[in-house]
Amino acid sequence: MKKNMKRMMGWIFTAVLICCIGFTTKGVTADAAIVSGGKKNYSYSELQKDLQQLKKKYKNHCQVNVIGKSEDKRNLYEVVIGNPDAKKHLLVMGNLHAREHMTVQLCMKQIEYYLSNYNKKISGKKVSATLDKVAIHYVPSCNPDGTAISQRGFNAIRNKKLRSSLRKMGGSSSRWKANARGVDLNRNWNVAFKTSGRKGSSGYCGPKAESESETRALVNWSNRIQKQGKIVGIVSYHSTGSIIYGKSTSRAPKAVRNATTRMYQTAKSLTGYQLVQHESYALPHGYSRTYYLYKKKIPFITVEVGRGAAPLGGGEFGSIWAKNKNVVIREAQLFQ
Ligand SMILES: [Zn+2]
Repeated sequence: MKKNMKRMMGWIFTAVLICCIGFTTKGVTADAAIVSGGKKNYSYSELQKDLQQLKKKYKNHCQVNVIGKSEDKRNLYEVVIGNPDAKKHLLVMGNLHAREHMTVQLCMKQIEYYLSNYNKKISGKKVSATLDKVAIHYVPSCNPDGTAISQRGFNAIRNKKLRSSLRKMGGSSSRWKANARGVDLNRNWNVAFKTSGRKGSSGYCGPKAESESETRALVNWSNRIQKQGKIVGIVSYHSTGSIIYGKSTSRAPKAVRNATTRMYQTAKSLTGYQLVQHESYALPHGYSRTYYLYKKKIPFITVEVGRGAAPLGGGEFGSIWAKNKNVVIREAQLFQ
């Protein structure tokens, strides 16, 4: 009887062990605990709460900084993972367009995933070795006001003047792309700028280049990092369409074009997203990608996640996560 009990305990122990191993794949931690992978709108307050927890849990490898304020005075957060004194830096931007807010959740999940696997290997390379040489700087939400509009309506804007002006612009709040002043933050950059469009959900460049506090904060952010070391590349997450803007023209130096192609190929190999063929930069006015590629000479890809119309339904997050979870660390590996 005692012998049988012992044997049974042995089986139970083995079963539990197999179970535990089953939760990890190839040695990496499968599911991290702070950032939700759930099917819901990921809000600004959830972002703030998660940033506090990540900073606490991974304080040796993660810094959270405020790089500026939005027009409605929300914080623009930068998360640096890895060695902040590294010579090389990879930048990641999420949510430049309001209704594409699933990209905030995606960036935050990536941050937690890389931190929770810091001492393990992803795609054959130790995460710590990569992040020691290439620090990754995320701004998960470049447009928190617009996201608040898309998720909660014009009432989410606290400044009275901005709120009443938004109501006059009209249009669908949930499909909002711009910031709280009706300026499209992906048309407001100082490259071949000319003003066009009208205040509203999309397409308005603003009264002048860098007229918006969000654009200015992002420009200052990348300028600061450029003084610290070399920005090896930028990944900008948008939605939707499952496509990648990865082409560049001879306006960029050959090395920048080659690195952009390599970045695109890496993202494509993981996601299966197709290259945008019709991209033309005859008139680049105000785009972030053309600003960085041609003015700052920094390799840059735009990855458009998802399939449905933005804002994407929560049901898409699982498949987007599966395709994109290794994208940014693999881009960093290219340059280590
Ligand atoms: Zn977009």
